[in-house]
Amino acid sequence: MSDLPDEFKCTITNWEYIYGLCRTVSTEVKRSEFEPDVVVALARGGWFAGRCICDFLGLDDLTSLKMEHYVGTAEKTGEPQIRYPMPEGSVEGKDVLIIDDIADTGGSIERAHEYVTDRDADQVRTGTLQLLQTSEFEPDFVGERLEEWAWVVYPWNFIEDMIDLISGVMRKAEGETFTPEEIRRLLAEFHEIERIQMEIAQPNRLNEVLVEMERRDAIDRDGANEWQLVEG
Ligand code: ADP
Repeated sequence: MSDLPDEFKCTITNWEYIYGLCRTVSTEVKRSEFEPDVVVALARGGWFAGRCICDFLGLDDLTSLKMEHYVGTAEKTGEPQIRYPMPEGSVEGKDVLIIDDIADTGGSIERAHEYVTDRDADQVRTGTLQLLQTSEFEPDFVGERLEEWAWVVYPWNFIEDMIDLISGVMRKAEGETFTPEEIRRLLAEFHEIERIQMEIAQPNRLNEVLVEMERRDAIDRDGANEWQLVEG
């Protein structure tokens, strides 16, 4: 999220909705008559989906592959890299279904496909819960195609993403201290996160996020209901 512009659209999702997309991907896999032996879930975004899809398909072989965009400390490379190699025997000779949450550039899942194929897997297919039009890679199975680019806030990293978004808007906005209402207004202004949409998807969570930001020393409470960024 760190390379994104100041203003971009976000969509907040919930477990029920995402579970439905897992079901859709699984239904597509069944319809194609592809019968994977193992699911490779890309860490970290593909974990929840990978586990649920195993359940829908009746598979007990689930393994993981961690992709990374950064090598060393802050050196950014264009190509996603494999962080940890897969254990011997994970995919060799097996029919593999690689799962991730979303394909944006599609770089991660494309690299994962190449890696698994090089490990002498038998048939290799890919699936994502969501697909953005920006993706240069077309997964075999897609839960949902998004017409408009958005940053999707998934329930498994709701707190992490909200902390990034809230710190970002507090940094960009005029002013030193912010009430929760002002933070909501900024989230709407910069990221099209409307109060009602957020409360429907993730009810009563703003205060929880603010308290957690305080615990992580990202913000300070200034008075009863005012928050300010901790600089540094
Ligand atoms: P890139 O390789 O450019 O990061 P990918 O399409 O490979 O793009 O996405 C890598 C991971 O980054 C995804 O699995 C997802 O976890 C996260 N991600 C990328 N774009 C989005 C987005 N629009 N909304 C939510 N998460 C995203």
